[in-house]
Amino acid sequence: MAIPVPEIARILDTYPTTPAVGAVGSHSAIDIADGAVAEGLTSVVLTETGRDRTYAQYFRTLRDASGARRRGCVDEVWEYPKFAAVTSPESQERLRGRGVLLVPNRAFSSYVPLDAIEREFRVPIVGSRTMLRIEERTERENYYRLLEAAGIPAPRAIASPDAIDRLAIVKLPHARRRLERGFFTAASPEEFRAKSARLIERGTITAPDLAAARIEEYVLGPVFNFNFFFSPLVPRSEGLELLGVDERRESNLDGLVRLPAAQQLELSESDRIPEYLVVGHGTLTLRESILEDVFRIGEKFVEAARARYPPGILGPFCLQTCLDRDGRPSVFDVAARIGGGTNVHLALGHPYGNALYREPMSTGRRIALEIRRAAADGRLKEIVT
Ligand code: AMP
Repeated sequence: MAIPVPEIARILDTYPTTPAVGAVGSHSAIDIADGAVAEGLTSVVLTETGRDRTYAQYFRTLRDASGARRRGCVDEVWEYPKFAAVTSPESQERLRGRGVLLVPNRAFSSYVPLDAIEREFRVPIVGSRTMLRIEERTERENYYRLLEAAGIPAPRAIASPDAIDRLAIVKLPHARRRLERGFFTAASPEEFRAKSARLIERGTITAPDLAAARIEEYVLGPVFNFNFFFSPLVPRSEGLELLGVDERRESNLDGLVRLPAAQQLELSESDRIPEYLVVGHGTLTLRESILEDVFRIGEKFVEAARARYPPGILGPFCLQTCLDRDGRPSVFDVAARIGGGTNVHLALGHPYGNALYREPMSTGRRIALEIRRAAADGRLKEIVT
């Protein structure tokens, strides 16, 4: 069973009045650190040996003789031999002693075992501890269930390879890089069999993963990742905010689509297979007449999360969508925590976040603002689990 929320609330009682903001050093840690210091809080980044220089050197806070910040936003770097050691008893004691509120990012939920996060990690998490697990497609209680319960449009699931009757995407992990994707597309059962056999032969995917793969309708349209924020500190009608929208750059998939068709056809067989390795992000805005649809989906998500995973979603979350030919969003993935693309509005804010706050408002800054407001009003217990 996950650590009960009241137990975390009791831990908070031992915290200093001004807590520090912590994140595992990867994914969106720079946004989190930048936001923390923009709001006058201390940032702590938990790094793994060998992956620490971005934070320990290049974004590290440097101060002048008077102590004023001269450069950088990562105030403290704590190095671990492996990310998973973040939940060791000594580490937890240090985090609590320093008053760290941990902001979960994808690096935290993929490198630290979910069981340890849910059952052993007695450090307050800004967000929903139990919802981190719904991202795992192989879990029984995954995000597809939540989307269905919420009545949120999602790409139609295809029951088996033999049922493929239109362009479909097959979702399974990469054979070697287990946290990455071994996705492929197929428009018929024959194409599914031929392509999967070649991918198994190349060592890109494995047969057991293929047997458990999710097959769904491929939505032909642009990807919009909606970076929302939900605050329980304000009246419900003001709780949901859309801070910004990002899109992804995916390794050779993006390289492929930048080539004219004639050149694509001249590529070798192996170069023609797209890899969905996310390597960066760009920023987007949405046609205004579609915004209301997107808010409706966000509201449904908040309500369904509250009913199924009390106290529900707290703080940032990201709904990843494809827009179909009629401009209707279909949610194909969910992050019940800060999304992977929020560095697009790092330090600058995003047009939507800025329009709401009348000053630069990134996701990282919005999280820190929530912490500061909650701390000032003695309501920190309402934003952590
Ligand atoms: P995911 O791992 O679910 O976040 O998906 C990775 C990438 O696969 C996305 O960024 C999209 O480019 C693509 N994708 C996933 N699902 C679909 C879908 N149903 N239709 C079209 N593209 C998709």
